[in-house]
Amino acid sequence: MPRIIHIIGAGLAGLAAAVELSARGHMVVVHEATNFAGGRCRSYYDNSVGMTIDNGNHLLLSGNRAALAYARAIGAEDRLAGPPRAEFAFFDFASREKWTLHFNDGRVPWWIFDPRRRVPGTHALDYLSIARLLWAPHDHAVGEVIRFSGTLYERLLRPLLLAALNIDPAAGSAALAGAIIRETIAMGGRACRPLIAREGLGSTLIDPALDFLEERGARVLFGHQLHAIRCSEDRITALDFGKDSINLTGDDAVILAVPPYVTAALLPGIETPSEFRAIVNAHFRVDPPGHLPPILGVINATTEWIFAFPGRISVTISAGDRLIDTPRDALAQSIWREVATIAGLASELPRWQIVRERRATFAATPEQDARRPPPRTSHRNLVLAGDWTKTGLPATIESAIRSGHRAAEIIAQS
Ligand SMILES: Cc1cc2nc3c(=O)[nH]c(=O)nc-3n(C[C@H](O)[C@H](O)[C@H](O)COP(=O)(O)OP(=O)(O)OC[C@H]3O[C@@H](n4cnc5c(N)ncnc54)[C@H](O)[C@@H]3O)c2cc1C
Repeated sequence: MPRIIHIIGAGLAGLAAAVELSARGHMVVVHEATNFAGGRCRSYYDNSVGMTIDNGNHLLLSGNRAALAYARAIGAEDRLAGPPRAEFAFFDFASREKWTLHFNDGRVPWWIFDPRRRVPGTHALDYLSIARLLWAPHDHAVGEVIRFSGTLYERLLRPLLLAALNIDPAAGSAALAGAIIRETIAMGGRACRPLIAREGLGSTLIDPALDFLEERGARVLFGHQLHAIRCSEDRITALDFGKDSINLTGDDAVILAVPPYVTAALLPGIETPSEFRAIVNAHFRVDPPGHLPPILGVINATTEWIFAFPGRISVTISAGDRLIDTPRDALAQSIWREVATIAGLASELPRWQIVRERRATFAATPEQDARRPPPRTSHRNLVLAGDWTKTGLPATIESAIRSGHRAAEIIAQS
């Protein structure tokens, strides 16, 4: 019998593993519980706004090397759009000040010496403190390593780390924050260009992967939820999908690329992250004015990032747990008031949608980070993948794809 690799979960981790293994000629079957691929990174048609939107705005950086390799492999690299240089526009809602950070391309951070390129109100020496995060111990929170107040913190580090860690940065893991700094700011502007899926996550990161898999004969089974795993000693012997089950023979192997709480239920005794943080997105059907940058960081407001898409403005709020119980229309109204003020638009609320992802990411504290398992398990033919596994990165697209690539590598070598 030819060897079959079963991949459970068609989120980015599962898809990245499937693409990598199919490209190497392995026989792959992907089993996805829902009727769509993409998991937490997906597009769907939304009746309230009357258009296809993403569940949430997703930002990549040009230094996300695994994510870019994945996009290249599925032929979608050119669908990730961004400015030619690393620039980030900001707006302070309290003082109404606007500024744009201009990183220079190389690794020597000349931009911090230029008052027109750095954060207004900061000095070059302030930036030295960021380096402390690069060597931070794993059991420390950001707030134990750097000062979590002051202009540089409020205007750069807080928005950057809040977006990357999806937790109040002071409580976030300093080691995970250090990993972000190491792979972005410390690499220079060439690694910091913001990239977004302008035509949507689905047509950029998901559908081309499904086409790639189909062309290579891989099967993707939707509505096929794994209910239980059967094992004997150090091997998985069968996958139980409720209405059917699959016996594993010979060298067959499994990549489990499902969220941590599903993994914990399927593999009793395994330690996984157990606390989560929400992300709230608001989508407004309105033409963004020409002067609104494609991505705008906002401080001193509920709105944190504004994304301008054709025919739509979308807002992202990280660590949004405090907004989970706010009535949806009140939330839409208050976010729109801020957006209308910033963008110079009429105060009348356009068609809108609020998407609240309660378990958007695991809580990136040092304690939860320590609960992340490595990809290898005590079963020789079972490997874990997912943004929450031990990748050394916070729960991001890059972490998910890197974990998928790593799982594929382990399986390919076994
Ligand atoms: C609103 C929001 C905004 C975000 N913004 C960003 C951003 O700007 N930049 C960034 O890099 N990252 C961002 N992220 C994080 C990013 O989306 C995730 O890191 C990534 O999508 C996780 O992929 P994954 O494959 O690890 O997990 P998931 O996407 O959770 O995939 C797991 C898959 O397994 C399936 N599944 C579950 N149980 C079973 C079962 N029993 N059997 C079969 N299948 C099962 C699920 O249906 C799902 O498809 C954001 C996330 C959210 C929610």
